[in-house]
Order: sequence, then structure tokens, then C-alpha cells
Amino acid sequence: MLDFVVIFTKGGVVLWHSSATESSFASCINSLIRGVILEDRNTEAKYFEEDHLAVQFKLDNELDLVYAAIFQKVIKLNYLDGFLADMQAAFKDKFGGIPSAERLGNEYDFDREYRRVLSAAEEASAKQVKAPKAMRSYNESQKSKKTVASMIQDDKKPVEKRVNIQESPPSSKSQPSSPPENGASMDDIIRENRRKLREKLTPTKKTSPGDPRPSKTTASEKAGKKPRVWDLGGNSKDAVNLDRSKDTPEDVQYQNINSELVGTMQGVIRDLDVESEDDAENEEESSDEEEEEELVQSKKNKRGGLLSYFKGIVGAKTMSLADLQPALEKMRDHLISKNVATEIAAKLCDSVATSLDGKQMGTFDSIASQVKEALTQSLVRILSPKRRIDIIRDALESKRNGRPYTIIFCGVNGVGKSTNLAKICFWLIENDFNVLIAACDTFRAGAVEQLRTHTRHLNALHPATKHDGRTMVQLYEKGYGKDAAGIAMEAIKFAHDTRVDVVLVDTAGRMQDNEPLMRSLSKLIKVNNPDLVLFVGEALVGNEAVDQLVKFNQSLADYSSNENPHIIDGIVLTKFDTIDDKVGAAISMTYITGQPIVFVGTGQTYADLKAINVNAVVNSLMK
Ligand code: GDP
Repeated sequence: MLDFVVIFTKGGVVLWHSSATESSFASCINSLIRGVILEDRNTEAKYFEEDHLAVQFKLDNELDLVYAAIFQKVIKLNYLDGFLADMQAAFKDKFGGIPSAERLGNEYDFDREYRRVLSAAEEASAKQVKAPKAMRSYNESQKSKKTVASMIQDDKKPVEKRVNIQESPPSSKSQPSSPPENGASMDDIIRENRRKLREKLTPTKKTSPGDPRPSKTTASEKAGKKPRVWDLGGNSKDAVNLDRSKDTPEDVQYQNINSELVGTMQGVIRDLDVESEDDAENEEESSDEEEEEELVQSKKNKRGGLLSYFKGIVGAKTMSLADLQPALEKMRDHLISKNVATEIAAKLCDSVATSLDGKQMGTFDSIASQVKEALTQSLVRILSPKRRIDIIRDALESKRNGRPYTIIFCGVNGVGKSTNLAKICFWLIENDFNVLIAACDTFRAGAVEQLRTHTRHLNALHPATKHDGRTMVQLYEKGYGKDAAGIAMEAIKFAHDTRVDVVLVDTAGRMQDNEPLMRSLSKLIKVNNPDLVLFVGEALVGNEAVDQLVKFNQSLADYSSNENPHIIDGIVLTKFDTIDDKVGAAISMTYITGQPIVFVGTGQTYADLKAINVNAVVNSLMK
């Protein structure tokens, strides 16, 4: 049963309503107007819930009207889509389209039509209800086909590293949607993608087609597992070997550190630099004849891009969903090919469809530009979350209040938590904060040593002598096997007592389905009440991103006994340098959490840390 049905303008003027109970639904409608309609968020879902109520709505973009039905969320009503559409048609029929300004506020007598449309929808739905499906027997189920061994989870076994570009081959789960071809390893693909990104980021001439490309994989590179290399200078001759098994004396380790990095990260984090259409145009102007042909060709391809799917739709006066459907499906596939999670790609297409449905259309150009505008708006909206995280400002505020600013890093294994924690530490030091790193990954062998090495390198780049005798980074560690929450707590207390500005807490990588580990992360966050919880995720993931984030957030909420559990506040998107233009994870991750991407990791030097550049990401997706 519907509790409340209402028709109102997007500006909030109610034209007509019908109420089945005495209750007030004002709060629900206000939330719909404020949170969904005015802020233009989530309109693609056409459904939201508040307390025990659910609201399903339909937008009429031509008339700027909203048709909404409110009902108890426990009830499942399968006829609402059709019912709201019929109601819209009946309302238009009766009042001749656009409600003029002088009519607003007058009574719209729509009761009779409403009852007619509602009973037609209810009758049609009753007829459609099919006999319930017979339950599958156990033998027919997938479960019966599993072996016992496949169902046992060995918690003692360290969780397999996911993608680690230098150490182990990636798991198939974490690969971008296209699998390696022609026997090329993921390393080859990543190297090739990195080369492409480097080319894009270099404003100088592109290599001509005949130029020999950097050799892919040498025989020595292929032979066996390589030690981890932390290239502090971005220049192979300056690379510092971080093979922890051969720890060298400090002075030897430091001699190759590229001090050119010092001073490069002062101030706010710089924007991610991804080729935009404008850049492409500038490049074309400055290119010489040899390159011209190549550039013209690539530009042609780009122009085709996503909008070319809408070419077939020409001349329809009023756009209907049926006209748009085939093109929308291609658009969805295009987004998925850019690594946007399937579910999110579908929602984006729905949002474009919703904003185009019923609009007046002309030539291909106007359709293409409307699609582009609708999609761009959705993407920009997703990537520009309402909350801005300003770490420098908040850390200064904490410092003034005499307490350390605390960030906890979490995520699955191998995504780059420790590495990017070290980059963020470098950025903080460059901005004159001193830092305590709390080594709370007490699980993975080598995790503490990895942080110790970073601490040494960071102190070498920023020695106390250059900071009025202050040691800029210290490590708080208690070895392995201990309670991580307890270590974090001691570290924060130590930082408080010794007036350290910022505490960065490294945690053990964990799979989102591992309940005991997720419980302990939730406890770590609850007892230490950090200022910020950052989820570290790699840009290589597609659908997996959604699963990770949904489950991390869900576990943090479920296993915290707090009324207001502290869930993920922001995202560190790593390995952006390895994905070429498959930038979809950025969209999926912000869509799921509604939280901002605070940092983007773009490589393996301390300076490879950027801020998200919304326009660049959107342009990349459109191509
Ligand atoms: P953790 O297990 O999550 O702490 O991951 P690590 O910090 O140990 O990083 C795993 C691997 O990813 C290391 O080889 C890092 O050098 C590499 N890595 C981390 N961030 C980036 C990045 O932004 N770009 C690239 N190319 N590699 C990265």
C-alpha cells in the first residue's frame, strides 16, 4: 500500500498529493528535495530510504516535476515504475503540460485520475504474480559441487598478495578487465602502460613510430623474483636497493638518495596530470610534420570515442528510452572497458537515460552534446564529493590543541599501503610536520623492516639539522604478533607526550571477507578514534573495488559497537601510473563510499603523490 503520493516541482512546490494515513511525510519529502533533487545526487537510483520508509520517484525533466510515492520499506512493490510513468502521462494529459507560474499554488484536481492509474497498476501487477519458483534441491545447487577443501579457509596462511608489480604475478581478480594477451605478463603490460603514461606526461615530442621502444623485459629481468627496488629519484641510477635481507649500513644506504626531491612537495598536493583534450590540441599545434599524421589519427579516434555510439539516433523529436537503449548499452560497455565497475557503469547510464528521457532532441550533434553534458555532470558529481579533506589545515588545528593528528591506513594486501604512507609522510615533513609511524602490521614478515627503511630514508632527506634539531620521522614498533590496536594506542600516547604532530598508522593488509581480521581493524579504529581512516586501493581493480569498499565499510560499521561507527573517510588510489587510460576505479571507489580520493599514487618515488584531477579523469573516460 502506498502511504503518500505527491507531485511537486523540482523547486519544491507541491502541486498535488494523496495521503493514506494521518502521519506526516514532510521530513521524507524534504530529504528527497534537499538530498536528492536539489543536490542532483543519486537521481539515477530513483529510490531511497529514510528510517522505515522508502521513496520511489520519477523525474520529468521536461517539466521539471517530480512524481514520488512513499511506502513502508518492508513492502516490495513491483509496479511502481510503471505506475509513476502512467501517473506522469495522466497528469500531462489533464493539465496540458507545463504548469504555468500562475497555476502553481492552485489546486490541481487529480484524485480521480490517480485512483484510476493506481488501480490499473495494481491489477496488472496482481496478474503478473507468478507461482513461486520451486526451491532447488541440494543436489542441484552450486554448493553441492564444492569440495570440502575448497570451503576451508586457512587463516594461518598469509593472505596472498594481490598485485605487486615487482614481486609476484597478480591474481586474476585484481587485473584490469582485459586479460594479458599474447602471453605478455602483467609486468609487461604495466611497464607498457607506464611508458604510455610517461609519454603523455612529457610535453615534449612523442617518439616517432619508427623509434625503438624501451626494451620490454630483458632476460635478467625475467629470471626469478626480483628484490624490491625503491627508486627514490625516479631515475634508475639513483635507485636505492631496499632488499631487506642485505641491509647495508646507513651511510651506504643514503649515499644514493636523490636529494632533488626535497622541496618538491611543499604546499598542497599537486593535481594529477593526465592528458586532457586541450593538451592534445596544443600538442597537435606544436607537432612537426612527422608526427602530424599520427596525432590526427589519434585525435580522430578520440573524437569518435564514447559519443560516436549515439550517431545512429538522429531526428527524433522527443527522446524516449527505447531510442536511447542500444547506445546506452554501448556506453555502458565503454565505461566497463575503462575499468568502471559493472554496477556503477549501469547506474551512470541510467542517470544519463533519466536526464535525457523526454527531452527534445535535434541532430546528432545536439544528442551527442546532451549525452556528454549529462554524463560529465554525473561523473563530476561523483568525483566531487561534498566533503573536502584538508589534512594540513586539520593537522595544524590539532597541533594548536596540543594533540597529534592521526591517520589510519587500511586495505587489502599489496595495494601500496606502506609505500604510500611513506609518500604521505614525506609530504607532511616537507610541510614541516614531524611524524610518528606506528608499525601496526604485526602480521606480514618484513612489514616493520620496510617502514624502518622508509624512516631512515626520510630522515636522510630531511635531517634534524635542517629542522631545528627536530627528528622529522620516528618509527613506533613492537615487532610481530602483538595486538595492533594496543600498539597504535601506545604510539598515539607517545606522540602526544613527546609532541609529535602527526601519527600515521600502518595496518596489516586483509581481505574484505576475512571476518576476524575485519573485526580487529574495526576494534583498532574504535579504540584509537583517529582523525582520518584512509582506504588504500589500487587503480588496477574493476569490479573488485566495489566489493572491497562495500565490505570494508560494512565491517567497520557492523563490528564497531559504537552508535556512530567510524567508517572510511577517504581513499588513496595507488598505482595510477600503471593503468594508462583505464581510470574507472576512481569513479567506482568514490561512488561507493561517497568519500573523496585524497591522494593518488603515481609511481615509486616519494614525490609520486598527486591530488585527483576531476576533469582529467572525466576526459579520459570519455575517450
Ligand atoms: P602494502 O602491502 O599494501 O603495504 O603494499 P606495499 O606498500 O608493500 O606496496 C606493494 C608494491 O606496490 C610495492 O612494490 C610498491 O613499490 C608498489 N607500489 C605502491 N604504490 C605504487 C604506485 O603508486 N605506483 C606503482 N607503480 N607502484 C606502487
